[in-house]
Amino acid sequence: MDFASDNSGGASRKILEALVTANAGSTPGYGADDYSLAASRKLAEVFEHDCSVFLVSTGTAANALALSTLTPPWGAVFCHEDAHINDDECGAPEFFTAGAKLVSLKGAQGKISLAALEDAVERFPPGLVKQVQPASLSLSQATECGTLYSLDELQNLTAIARHAGLGVHMDGARFANAIESLNCTPAQMSWKAGVDVLSLGATKDGALACEAVIVFDPARAAELPFRRKRAGHTLSKGRFLGAQMSAWLDDDHWRELARHANSMAARLAMGLTEIPGVRMPWPRQVNEVFTVLPGDIDRALRAAGARYYDWGARGLTAMQAPGADEVFVRLVTSFATTQDDVGQFLKVARSAA
Ligand SMILES: *Cc1c(COP(=O)(O)O)cnc(C)c1O
Repeated sequence: MDFASDNSGGASRKILEALVTANAGSTPGYGADDYSLAASRKLAEVFEHDCSVFLVSTGTAANALALSTLTPPWGAVFCHEDAHINDDECGAPEFFTAGAKLVSLKGAQGKISLAALEDAVERFPPGLVKQVQPASLSLSQATECGTLYSLDELQNLTAIARHAGLGVHMDGARFANAIESLNCTPAQMSWKAGVDVLSLGATKDGALACEAVIVFDPARAAELPFRRKRAGHTLSKGRFLGAQMSAWLDDDHWRELARHANSMAARLAMGLTEIPGVRMPWPRQVNEVFTVLPGDIDRALRAAGARYYDWGARGLTAMQAPGADEVFVRLVTSFATTQDDVGQFLKVARSAA
């Protein structure tokens, strides 16, 4: 019953097998191999757009590199206050951009509100020398609250960004979960929605360690080969990144893995809402369930060996916040979560209610 994170599980067997296949023979190094070239070609097909692709091994590197192409050292990156780039990357975006400033914005359920973005654009007029210059907007899809921007919401935010001359980055660590849930195409949720550079995460969705920086306007990618190498993310045996990405995309494997993770979370959320005293402040939209548990249920689950994290209640309204003997927790499912894991968890929770 491990619901700590979508990196708690291992990697998908198909991807492991692809690595064994890719292990045979010799190839050129540093991403000039056939596996990496095939991965780029497949991404261009899947996204229905010309693009430049840079494979790296962590999401932090993908985000920081992506932002560095859109933001000068004196630039501002507008992001949600709970964004992974703001809270969980140890200053990598600031480091890779050589000093850009992250400006955190508010919005309910992990989503930047239109008003917050409009305010920020007004607060940072271009040309005012004493301030950082507005440069980019970073949107997390899915958000850190496990919620989704609708396609319309994305369009509205990126229209403001476009009008203000900002480049748009999307942190797609859970991009696959998001398109499955919105039932849209990868193109609709990226370049068609105004995204210039996407961090596409495969790791949490079944790869070992593989993420892609996808630049939809190849002219904007001219610096990235140098930036990636300088960051230490140009893998010498690049074929192993290419093989992961390629196998992940083949036969819609990535979508199948994400669908499974989402459906396990849906089951979990459904079961939990039926238990007296359990509350769900935000809608379950992808593979994460945020819930307020009565203390008795939390203690019973922990005693039974269930693993999950307590979550900061900062994003909750006073009405939603946990009471005296309640805890706010995050439960994450993955491609590796089984129906038994979910069933067992719900059984323990029910019997402690
Ligand atoms: C996990 C995650 C990342 C990537 O993190 P790494 O641990 O560096 O791979 C990026 N953004 C979000 C929203 C995430 O959840």
